[in-house]
Parts: sequence; structure tokens; C-alpha cells
Amino acid sequence: MAETTTQTVLVGKTTQELETFAESLGEPRYRGRQLAHWIYRKGVLTFDAMTDLPKALRQRLGEIALINPLQVVDVKVASDGTTKYLAQLPDGETVEFVFIPHSDWETICVSTQAGCPIGCRFCASGESFARNLMAGEIVGQVLLARRRETPNIVFMGMGEPLLNFDNLVKALRLLNKEVGIGARRMTVSTVGIVQGIRKLAQLGMQVNLAVSLHAPDDELRRRLIPAKLPPIKELLQACWEYFQATKRRISFEYVLLKGVNDRPEHAVELARLLRDFPCHVNLIPYNPTVAEFERPSEAEVEQFRRLLTQQGIAATVRHERGTEVQGACGQLRRHLRWEISDLDAAPTAAEGR
Ligand code: SF4
Repeated sequence: MAETTTQTVLVGKTTQELETFAESLGEPRYRGRQLAHWIYRKGVLTFDAMTDLPKALRQRLGEIALINPLQVVDVKVASDGTTKYLAQLPDGETVEFVFIPHSDWETICVSTQAGCPIGCRFCASGESFARNLMAGEIVGQVLLARRRETPNIVFMGMGEPLLNFDNLVKALRLLNKEVGIGARRMTVSTVGIVQGIRKLAQLGMQVNLAVSLHAPDDELRRRLIPAKLPPIKELLQACWEYFQATKRRISFEYVLLKGVNDRPEHAVELARLLRDFPCHVNLIPYNPTVAEFERPSEAEVEQFRRLLTQQGIAATVRHERGTEVQGACGQLRRHLRWEISDLDAAPTAAEGR
């Protein structure tokens, strides 16, 4: 396991903080602006490539500073180009993120926590929680995965972003101001942390909000998401306030689990709940990762979608990309953890004899 680094990590610092860092090295402040430009705008991840910095400074930086705190340890590419990364952090924790290509844009799905404390019953990430990610560890994922200067960013990987609020906000601001990604190109996904939604609304950023609902009533929702969450009514009130503050339509995410929440009566109840709400429903047929749950048939999925649209609710079926590279959140990390614990548990050569 890697040691916690004693080097100064640069990704995660604002231009102003990099100016202060440069000053602390006895350099002029504009060196900090140069560093920010190379790291955030040009995406350069080695000091050697920063050709307008004096060679001696580049050498010194190589000794005392680390550009990106993430080190990629595994990459899996699906036939559709979806690329899943697993990276190790300086303290040995691991985090995963996904690059998703489209014909004329790209999306990067980032994690905000190592593991997740929410524990959704159908999710591989919900099995363990290690810690919150620092802002630089969130932004670092984007810098490693992007192919274009300004991709779309969805905070939908491992973890509940609104439970890591300060680092989330710092990451949003860094991506917006330093990397140059418009707020409207970023989507924060939450399981329904009402206080966090209200705080996010007050930021004055037009970030999109996606809310994982997964059930049309509180009882079923509690069965699927055991974490203590406020009732749906309160959640919808916070979503309404978010819409009023940002004028961004809310997305509701609904994972369809065969025989659990995908029945026609669930669709009817969901439509009743969201009637007149400025929203869009994304239906996600379950990609089986937990033995207890199954994916509904295409016909069942289509029937659910049709029932919603017939009642005036905009709904689309979102097929998970890159399932052959373990595209569901948390899966790649879980496999790595197994490999590590397998090694830990394996008998030594002497014991095995
Ligand atoms: S689905 Fe999201 S909120 Fe639920 S356990 Fe998985 S990562 Fe956490």
C-alpha cells in the first residue's frame, strides 16, 4: 500500500493558491499562473513538458510536488469506447471513473468518495466506505480521462456527492473556473440529501441536479436505500426549490429492478408523484451486479416508460454503457479489493507446504 505523500499536490489548488505556492518557493507569483495553465488548460501532467518554466525549477518541482494525486492502476475499454479507470490515491485507497464517448461530445463520470456510506441494496459501491475524496482527487479524474478540453461531467460514480459537500463545491469551482467547463455541463447526482440540495441551490451555479428516486413511495424506497433519508415529499420540495433557484430541470433516476419497482402500478404512482414537476425521468434497466436483483425484460421496461409518457412525464430509457467492462459504479474497485484481500489471505509459501 502506498504511503501518504509528503509532496505538495498541485491539482486541487486554484490559480491563486498556486501563485502562493510559487511564492513560497521564492519564485515570482506568475509562475503559479503558468502552472495553472499547464495543468488545467493544457492538461499536462509532467513538469518536464512545462517548457516555459526554467529547467532548475522543473527539477525542483519534480522533487517536492506531485501534479495529480491519482495513479491509474487499471484501464478497461469496452467495444463502444467506454473506458473505465481504476486509480490509486496516495494513501492506497482506490477510486474509479469512466470516460463515455458520444458522436460529438463526451461525458466523464467521476467519483466523490472512496466507497459509499449510503448502502443501496442493488449497488456494488454500497458495500464499503473508506473516505471522502479531496477536491483535487475529484478534478484529477477529469484531467486523466478527458480527450476534449471541456467534457460533460456527471458526479455519478462512487459515493454520495452531497455528503462530501465542501470538496464537491471546490471541485465544481475548479472545473468551472480553472478547467473552463460550463456549470450547465456538470450534473450532480444525489440519493436525496435534502440539506445538500438546498445548499447547492444557494451557490448561484447552474449545475444540473439528478436525484436517484428508484421508488414511488417511501416504504419501497427505504427497502432499496437503507440510509436514513427524508420522506419523498420533503425531497421533492427541495428539488422544487432547486429548480426555482437555478431554472434547471431536475432529472430523476430510476433503476428498474425486475418484480421489485418495475410494475405498472409503480409507473402510475411515479407519474402521479411527478405530475406538473419540471423534470425528466431516466429509466435505467438494472445491470445485474448483486445476485438478489434482476434486470426486467425489454418489454417491461418499454411498458413502464410508456405509462409515464402517457401521463405527461418525459421519460427515456438509459442503457448503461460499457457493461462488459463492469460499467456499474463500484464494480472495478470491488474486484481490485478482492484481489488485494485474496493476496492478504493467501497462505505464504511456507504455510502452504
Ligand atoms: S447507488 Fe450511489 S448512493 Fe447508492 S450505494 Fe451506490 S454509489 Fe452509493
